Order: sequence, then structure tokens, then C-alpha cells
Amino acid sequence: MTTANNKRLFEEVESYRSEAVKFMSNLISYEAIAPESGGKGEWEKANFIQTFLEKIGFDEIKRYDAQDDRVPSKRRPNIVAKYFGENKEKTLWLVSHMDVVPPGDLSLWKTNPFQAFVEGDKIYGRGTEDDGQAVASSVFALKALVDLKIKPKFNVALAIVSDEETGSKYGIEHLITSSVFKKEDLVVVPDAGNEEGSIIEVAEKSILWLKFSVVGKQTHASTPNKGVNASLHAMRLGIELYEMLKSKYNIYDELFDPPFSTFEPTKREVNVENVNTIPGRDVFYFDCRVLPSYNINEVLSNIKKLCSLYEQIYPVEVKFEEVAKSEAPPPTSVASEVVQRLKQSIKLVKGIDARAIGIGGGTCAAHFRRAGIQAAVWMTTDSTAHQPNEYCKVSNLINDAKVFSLMSII
Ligand SMILES: [Zn+2]
Repeated sequence: MTTANNKRLFEEVESYRSEAVKFMSNLISYEAIAPESGGKGEWEKANFIQTFLEKIGFDEIKRYDAQDDRVPSKRRPNIVAKYFGENKEKTLWLVSHMDVVPPGDLSLWKTNPFQAFVEGDKIYGRGTEDDGQAVASSVFALKALVDLKIKPKFNVALAIVSDEETGSKYGIEHLITSSVFKKEDLVVVPDAGNEEGSIIEVAEKSILWLKFSVVGKQTHASTPNKGVNASLHAMRLGIELYEMLKSKYNIYDELFDPPFSTFEPTKREVNVENVNTIPGRDVFYFDCRVLPSYNINEVLSNIKKLCSLYEQIYPVEVKFEEVAKSEAPPPTSVASEVVQRLKQSIKLVKGIDARAIGIGGGTCAAHFRRAGIQAAVWMTTDSTAHQPNEYCKVSNLINDAKVFSLMSII
């Protein structure tokens, strides 16, 4: 593409600004919340998006809905829309998700979370950033190519999925098992980023959520000698675990932010209701994010060893359970085509050199990496996802759309 052509494409995307705001406002009005979180799913929202896509003129629009009897529609919708390129064997996918998390405490919202509120460059509402911006920027990126009749080098396609926030079984996993994607495809997941749009996520850490129960003997607080203080032992065990894990798994990898594994004690269950009883049972949790160079089963076996050693030394029983365990998939190479095309396009639109990084984990990209498909996570965002007064900036939506529209033609 010549500079003049790029300029024409950028002007086309710019011309969609007010239409994009309207589109986003519509997206916000659908409460696409997962049944696990008390919602009715994404059905109505998907139908609205599909109707919008049908007017654009894609070469192919397909639905891959997954059966889910917990929602009124009995289906979790997934939309795939393709615009064919010169090479029909390879596809650049822009993957976004329709589901949103619940608004949380409504008193913390300045406006109705399910009614768009536009103020200057910002659109407020639940799901504006996560992941409405991605839905809108990818839709308008492809609309520009279709409207200008620019033939991409290979297919470009949208995968707009359900169920990202609660496990992806009815969303991206359903598409992967339905063989929608090929190994040689390129995947961009606009679902995390920073304010400058200068980071491309290519790797993630393994995740371990662990629950520890310490059982001692309950007694009156004035006679600790008659019992075994589970709270005291839980604190001591927690610190011993933390220190063992931090010192044993101490590799630095500058690809990641932060550049090391983290092992954080987080939730603690209520033990006794009153101050003057020594608890006989104390339950605490760890959230661990482990660099992919470590084997998480080895981490688990060291945790187990420490717990049984603790039981041998002290008069308590220690039980530990895995609440969640997700082994990091192999990272997407910094040299991969998807990362290189993304970097080049970001440079052309924003004039910056984006760098590849690893994060703490948890987007659709992991599912692709596990399936052996190159996937990069990128967007420009102030990171307000899951917060009250979530917003996206229209300028980010438009500039991200320019980046996506360039990727298949440079
Ligand atoms: Zn998201």
C-alpha cells in the first residue's frame, strides 16, 4: 500500500466516528451477562450485531451457537464474518467478546451502566472497554476495507464470541473445536492493553488459585493452652509458603510485567464471630501467577511437601485444594507474522514502536496458543474494565480500527 492509500483508508475509518458511537451505544444497552453471574446471556446482543454486519457486505457470515440450557435462548451465540482476500487459505482474525461482567455496586456508578453516556471523547457504560471497543473497532476496520473495495492479501474475519468472562467453553473453545481456525491463521485479540497502545501481549503466566484449611482446636481465648490456635498457624503457614515460593521460584524474565512469578495470599474466610474465641479452623487462599518456564505440578508438589512438614512439626491438620489451575500455553513468538504486522501497523497509525510483553494471564489468546495458532493481544485502553464507570475513548476505538484495517494489506 502506498501512503496515499493508507491516508484514504484512515479517512474512511475517521468518517465512521458518529456511526461508531451509535453502534457502541446500542451494544451497551444489552445486558449480555453470563448465567453464572445471574444473566440471560448474549442472544439479543448477537442478533443486533449480526443485523449490523449483514448490511456491510461480508463474503460470508456464519453462526456457531453453543447449546446452553441455562439461558432462555438455550444458545450462546458466536458470530463469524469473513471478507475474502487474494489468498483464501489464510485468515487474519479479529477476536472480540460480547459478554460483559455485572455492573457491581450500582451506587458507585455515576450513570446507568446499561445506557451509553457520552462525554467528550469518552463513552461510559458496562462493557464499553471490555470488550465493546474491540467489537466496534474490528467491525469498522473491516467495513472500511469492504466499503473502499480494498482486496486484502489474505482473508480478514471477525469472530465475535460469547462466554469470555466465565471460561470460554461456549465461546472461543466452541469455535476452536468446530475447526473454524487453521494453524497458519493470524489472530489478534483486542482485550487488554495500555493507554499508549504500546504493548503487545504475546505470553502469559500459569495461574494457580489455592485454598488452604488449617485445623487446630477451638477454645476460650483466655486459655490458649487448652486448644490449638488455627489462626496463628494459618498466618505462620501462609508466610512460610510465601517465602518458600518467592525464594524457590525467583527467575526474572523481562518479557513479563511484573518480570517474576507472584504468590499472593488473598482471601481469608471468617473463622470465629467473636474476639474471645480461639479459632479451631482457619481458611486462606493464594493467587499464584507463575512464569511459564516453571512446571506448575512441581510448584504444587513443593507446596504439598511444605504442608506435610508443617503438620509434622505443629499439632495441626493442613489441607490444600486447587481452586483453579491453568498451565500457561507456549508464548507467541515476538518474530511471528501476527506480531510483526501488528507492530508495523501501530507504527504507521500511531508513530510508536510497540513492544511485546507477557502478562498475568486470562484472555481468549491462551486458547489459540494452546491450539498452536499465533495470537497477540493488543488494544489502546485506559484499563477501566470490570470497574464502575467503565468507559472507552472514541479516539482509541477509531485509531485501533485503523491499525486493524492496515494489518492485512501492508
Ligand atoms: Zn474482556
